[in-house]
Amino acid sequence: MKAGVIGLGAMGHGIAANLARAGLLAAVWNRTRSKAEAFAGEHGVAVADEPATVAAAADVILVSVSADNDLLGVIDALKEGLEPGKVVVDTSTVAPDTAREAAERIRATGAGFLDAPVSGGPEGARKGSMVMMIGGDEAVLDRIRPVLDPICGSANFMGPSGAGQATKAVNQIMVAGIMQGVASALAYGRGQGLDLEQVIRVVGGGAAGNWQLDNRGPNMVHDQFPPGFKLALHRKDLGIVRDVLAAKGLSLELIDRTLADYDRLIESGHGDEDISALYRLRCSELGSG
Ligand code: NAP
Repeated sequence: MKAGVIGLGAMGHGIAANLARAGLLAAVWNRTRSKAEAFAGEHGVAVADEPATVAAAADVILVSVSADNDLLGVIDALKEGLEPGKVVVDTSTVAPDTAREAAERIRATGAGFLDAPVSGGPEGARKGSMVMMIGGDEAVLDRIRPVLDPICGSANFMGPSGAGQATKAVNQIMVAGIMQGVASALAYGRGQGLDLEQVIRVVGGGAAGNWQLDNRGPNMVHDQFPPGFKLALHRKDLGIVRDVLAAKGLSLELIDRTLADYDRLIESGHGDEDISALYRLRCSELGSG
C-alpha cells in the first residue's frame, strides 16, 4: 500500500517523514512548492505538480491543511486522481459538517474518506505518536491501518463521518482550559518570584501535571512562543465549537473568553505564535510581565 501527503506544514511534514522512513511514501504536494522540494531533497520522494497527481500515485492520501475551505479546495483538486479502493484521510481540524461535505464530494469517485484529526502537536507528528480520532467506515479504517501505524500511536474509530472531528472538538475545548490554567498559574508564580523551571519540574510530577505544562511551560519561562500550535489555528478550532453551540442557542464561557484572548493577541501581531502566548496576557493582568 502506498501513501501520499498533501500539506507539509508543522504536522504534515512529520507525517510525511514517518511514511517516507517506513518506505510507504509515493508522492507529496504542498501549496508552497519550495517546502515540498526541500522535503523531497531530504527524503528522496517525488514532488507532485498538483494534488490529483498525489491521488493518482497513492492508495491512501493523507491531507493536512489549515482550515475548512482549504480542505474543500484540496478535495476538489485531488478528486480527478481518485478511483474505487483509494482512501482520503483528512488529518486537519475542521467542522464536522465540513468533514461530511468532503466525504460526500469524494463518494462520487468511489473512493473512501475518513475524517481523522489528530492530537499530539508537531512533536507527536515527528515521533509518530499522534492520537488519531476517526469518523467514517470502520472497515475502510481497518484496511488502511498499515499506513497509519508509522504515523500514530493509536488510530481510534469514533463513529460515522464527522465523529472524528466532534471528538477533536472535545480535545480542543480541554486544551483551551488547560492552557488557560497553565498560563495563569505560571504568571502567578512569576509574580511570586519563583524559579519557574523548578516549579514546572515539581508541580509537573504531581496531580496538576499535564502535557502543556511539560511541553509548553518552558516557552513561558523563556518568554518565547515559537509554533507549536499556532494560536490562529486554535482560534479556528474554538470558533467551530462556538458555532456548533450557537446553532443550539448555547455557549461556554471558557470558549468565549479564550476566543477574546486570542483576538487580542492576533490584533497585536501574535497570531503565528504558539497558544502558550496566552501567558503574555495573564502576565500583564497580574503585573508579572
Ligand atoms: P501549518 O504549519 O500552518 O501548515 C498548514 C499547511 O496547510 C501548509 O502546508 C499550507 O501550505 C497548507 N495550506 C493552507 N491553506 C491551504 C490551501 N488553501 N490550499 C492548500 N494548502 C493549504 O499548520 P499545522 O500546524 O501543520 O496544522 C495543519 C492542520 O492540523 C490544521 O488544521 C491544524 O488545526 C491541525 N492540527 C495542528 C496541530 C499543531 O499542534 N500544530 C495539532 C493537531 C492538529 P503552505 O506551506 O503553502 O502555507
